[in-house]
Amino acid sequence: MSNPIVKYENVYKSFGDVNVLKGINLSIGPTEKVALIGPSGSGKTTIIRMLMTLEQPTSGTIYVNHKNLWQMRKNDKLVTANEAHLRSIRGDIGMVFQHFNLFPHMTILENCMSAPIHVKKEKEEVVRERSLEMLDKVGLSDKVDLYPSQLSGGQKQRVAMARALVMRPKIMLFDEVTSALDPELVGEVLEVIRELAEEGNMAMILVTHEMDFAKDIADRILFLNDGVIEAEGPPSLMLNNPKSERLKAFLSRFTNHHQAQTLITS
Ligand code: ADP
Ligand code: MG
Repeated sequence: MSNPIVKYENVYKSFGDVNVLKGINLSIGPTEKVALIGPSGSGKTTIIRMLMTLEQPTSGTIYVNHKNLWQMRKNDKLVTANEAHLRSIRGDIGMVFQHFNLFPHMTILENCMSAPIHVKKEKEEVVRERSLEMLDKVGLSDKVDLYPSQLSGGQKQRVAMARALVMRPKIMLFDEVTSALDPELVGEVLEVIRELAEEGNMAMILVTHEMDFAKDIADRILFLNDGVIEAEGPPSLMLNNPKSERLKAFLSRFTNHHQAQTLITS
């Protein structure tokens, strides 16, 4: 890939003596949509937390927009990145987690306006306008003056997306954003992600257990297993005709689970 917006080069990550990521090599194109699947504990969250600078690799290099995440040039030498360097890179990245982490004492609009004003020092009026636009995009125009406690889980998750979008990220990270939702609220959240994906101008990394959804919107699926990318490829190949035995086993567990759920609920 000639112009990746994200690049992992031989990235390892350990917590104490537990080796969680064991040599990740990965390039993501500027508008590419990548779904990251794999068993619980395989390292999916760790991969994307490292992009958000919430974890530092034990070894290896991560580039965002061609900038080395953890190192910067100073007097022609590579030195450990300072907070300003990290903040400038983080500014290109929006992240939505499983739990929404909204500020409970702020209205929906204030939640969206907070970071651009306090972190990016943007003008309040400009930020207000952009926040209203993003809240409209996620279908919450009529909720802007409510507090998080007055919203459903699906609505809160859509606020979390609007809040990330207000920062105008080049890369959006979604970590199991529907896992904590009641089943009937999952659709509205996936729909917003689908629309963002169709707009097409951002790169997206989506950790998900919604295989049908991943198949629908992803350009590429990565299967992470035990800290390595065990298989990757276009969704149709990965999900319909998996070559990897481990991926096959993972998907079959998934299908059985799905069928079991269908049996229970029907
Ligand atoms: P996944 O998102 O695929 O379920 P994670 O990236 O959350 O996997 O975790 C991978 C492994 O790393 C797990 O064994 C987890 O317990 C461990 N781990 C993650 N974060 C930490 C941490 N901050 N300290 C210690 N161990 C961690
Ligand atoms: Mg996780």
